[in-house]
Amino acid sequence: PSPVITIDGPTASGKGTVAHRVAKHLGFHYLDSGALYRLTALMATLHGIALEDETAIASMARTLPCRFVHGHVFLEDADVTDAVRAEEVGVAASRIAVLPAVRQALVDLQVAFRYTPGLVADGRDMGTVIFPDASLKVFLTASAEARASRRYKQLIEKGISANMENLVKDLMERDARDSARSTAPLKPAPDAIILDTSELTAEEAVNKVLVWYAQ
Ligand code: C5P
Repeated sequence: PSPVITIDGPTASGKGTVAHRVAKHLGFHYLDSGALYRLTALMATLHGIALEDETAIASMARTLPCRFVHGHVFLEDADVTDAVRAEEVGVAASRIAVLPAVRQALVDLQVAFRYTPGLVADGRDMGTVIFPDASLKVFLTASAEARASRRYKQLIEKGISANMENLVKDLMERDARDSARSTAPLKPAPDAIILDTSELTAEEAVNKVLVWYAQ
């Protein structure tokens, strides 16, 4: 099978940026698994399905009508690239992500991203559940303050107003939910390398991952 590098970690730890750049550098495919949870949550909301309705959401997730085209994300043919990034969609995603049947429904879709020449996958359980045989597993951490200020900058750059206090609160709530759930809780795989990015630039973090992969 093609090689896989997994990059897991909490919200705004820098996973997305690091994973995307590592993939680009190696010419590998890139899986943003959080986007699949976000798309599922968004679709449930659009169709008026309650976020606790495990059966209905799982059956929707199994045939999630999404496409990834040149950095854009489509759901049922609508361009939802910006909509899926919204903070409330992230919170809704973390609510449906606790449902075991929903997680199971998204497994095949995630595994299908693994093909030649290789894959960089970012999420919470890439190294523990989805790609346990990955060639390299990295777990990113960063202080809550560093993560909230990164998220703040991202939102402001996009012209979305943001409030630091609310962001820290959202981060902590999401981390608590991701860590406490019984299915695939957020934790490093036993064979993952832990990288604290609080004091690192994205470029420094990318270089560390590339050096580990080359070893
Ligand atoms: O990474 P991102 O913030 O986009 O993910 C949104 C939510 O989806 C996370 O808070 C988490 O609850 C869930 N998720 C997950 N497993 C993954 C990726 C995301 O449970 N592999």
